[in-house]
Amino acid sequence: MLITAINLVYLIGATSFVIGLKQMSSPDTARKGNVLATFGMVIAILATLFIPITDAPNNYLWIFGAMILGGIIGYISAVKIEMTAMPQMVSVFNGLGGACAAVLASTELTQYANGATILNKGQLLILLITLLIGAIAFTGSMLAYAKLQGLVKDRHVTFPKHNIVNLILLGALLAMSVFVYLNMGDPTLWYIVLVLVLALLYGFSFVAPIGGADMPVVISLLNAFTGLSAAAAGLIYDNKIMLVGGILVGSAGIILTVLMCEAMNRSLLNVLIGGFGDNNHKAEDNGDKQLAKEITYTDLAIQLYYSETVLIVPGYGLAVAQAQKVVKRLDNLLSANGVDVKYAIHPVAGRMPGHMNVLLAEADIPYPKLLDMEDANEALPNTDMVLVIGANDVVNPAAYDDPASPVYGMPVINVWEAKNVVVMKRSMNPGYAGIQNQLFFHHKTKMLFGDAKSTLEQLNDEVKILDT
Ligand code: NDP
Repeated sequence: MLITAINLVYLIGATSFVIGLKQMSSPDTARKGNVLATFGMVIAILATLFIPITDAPNNYLWIFGAMILGGIIGYISAVKIEMTAMPQMVSVFNGLGGACAAVLASTELTQYANGATILNKGQLLILLITLLIGAIAFTGSMLAYAKLQGLVKDRHVTFPKHNIVNLILLGALLAMSVFVYLNMGDPTLWYIVLVLVLALLYGFSFVAPIGGADMPVVISLLNAFTGLSAAAAGLIYDNKIMLVGGILVGSAGIILTVLMCEAMNRSLLNVLIGGFGDNNHKAEDNGDKQLAKEITYTDLAIQLYYSETVLIVPGYGLAVAQAQKVVKRLDNLLSANGVDVKYAIHPVAGRMPGHMNVLLAEADIPYPKLLDMEDANEALPNTDMVLVIGANDVVNPAAYDDPASPVYGMPVINVWEAKNVVVMKRSMNPGYAGIQNQLFFHHKTKMLFGDAKSTLEQLNDEVKILDT
C-alpha cells in the first residue's frame, strides 16, 4: 500500500517535470513551469523519505539538516545572483549534482571493496559509470565556474598539446575502469580510488583548453553528464523518479548543447578540441588604425524619432548595465510617435542561452516584439535604424568575411544591411571572443560611447524634447 502510494507520487512528480519543462520553453509560461517542476521535486523527495528501510535506520536528522542548510544556501544565492553571473551559478549547481552522484557511487563501491555488499556485473558497471561521469562533471563544472568568474585564466591551466594530454588521461581512465570491472572477483579499494582520481583529473583537464564563447556549450554538456550520472544512480537504487529526472536533465542538456553548436555553426568535436576564444587564433587586430565615426545624442534622437522602423540589438553590455527598463522607455517614446520598434535576439547574445529574452521580459517588453536571428536578418534590409546596445561578437561581419577569425562561420545578425547603424558601448574594446569588430568602421555605422544605461537615459531626454 505504502509502496503504491509512493509510486503514485513519483508518477505525479515525473508528470510535473515533463509539463514544467515544456512550459519553460516559452517566456510566457516559464515561471509557471519552474513552480510546477519544483513542486514535482519536493513531493518526490518527501515520498522517497517514506521508503521503508530494513537494514539501516533512516537518519532523518542528517537528511533534514542537510536539506535545510542546502535549501537556505541555494535560496540566498538564487536571490542574490546577478543575471550576468547566471552561467557561473548553473555551473556550480551542476558540479555539485555531479559530486553527489560520485559520492553515492564511491560509497557503494567502498562497501563492495570491503566485502560488505556483493554486486553483480550490471550493478558494478552502472556504479563505475556513475562514478566516472559524476566526477568528471564535478571538476569540469568547478573549473568552468572559476574561468567564467575570472578566477582562473586559460593560460594558467593549459599546456602545449593539451588535447594529447587529455587523450592520454582518458585512455588511462577507461583502461583502469575496465581493469576494475574485469577483476570484479577481487575488488581492491585502491584501484577504485585511482579510477576516482583519474576521473576528477580528466574532468578538470577536459575543460581546461576550452575557452571564450565555447564555455556555455561545455556547461550545457556537463549538465547533460550530471543528468546521466543521476539517472545511473537511479538505476543503482532502483529509484524511478531519480531515473526519470536524470534522463530529463541529460536529454535537455544534450538538446541544448546541439542547439548552441548549431547557433555557432560548429561541431561539438570542434568545440571540445578548442579553437573559439583561443588566444592563439586571434584575428588580425587592425582596428586602432581606423577611425570610427561618432554621433551626438541630438542627431541620434532625431534619426530615431523620424524612422519608420527601428531594430534594437541587445547584447551582454545591456545586461551588465541593467539597461532593460530604460530601453523599454525609449521604445515607449518612439512607439508613441508611430515608430515600429522591434528587438533582434541572437541565440548566444549575452552570457547564456535565453539571456536576452529573460532580460527583456523583466522589463515587460512584449514577446511578439522579439525577432529571432533569422527573422531579424530578413527584416534588416527594410530597417531604417539599427541600435546595437552593448552587443559585439553577435554583430561581427568577420563571421562572413574573415576566415582567420574565431567567429568565422558563426551565424550573426547582419546589422550592416540596415540603412543606418548606431553602436552604443563604452569604448572600442572587444567583446567576449576578444577580437576587433569591423562593423564599428563600416560606412553606415556611427558610435555612441558610454555606459548603456546612462547613454540611453540621456537619449530618452533628447527624444522627450522632440516629443513636446
Ligand atoms: P560581447 O561580449 O561580444 O560584447 C559585449 C560588449 O558590451 C562589449 O564589447 C563591451 O564593450 C560592451 N559593454 C560592456 N559593458 C557595457 C556597459 N556597461 N554599457 C555599454 N556597453 C557595455 O557580447 P554579445 O552579446 O555581442 O555576444 C555574446 C558573446 O558571449 C558571444 O561571443 C557568445 O558566443 C559569448 N557567450 C554567450 C553565451 C550565451 O549562451 N549567450 C555564454 C557565454 C559566452 P565596452 O567594453 O567597450 O563597453
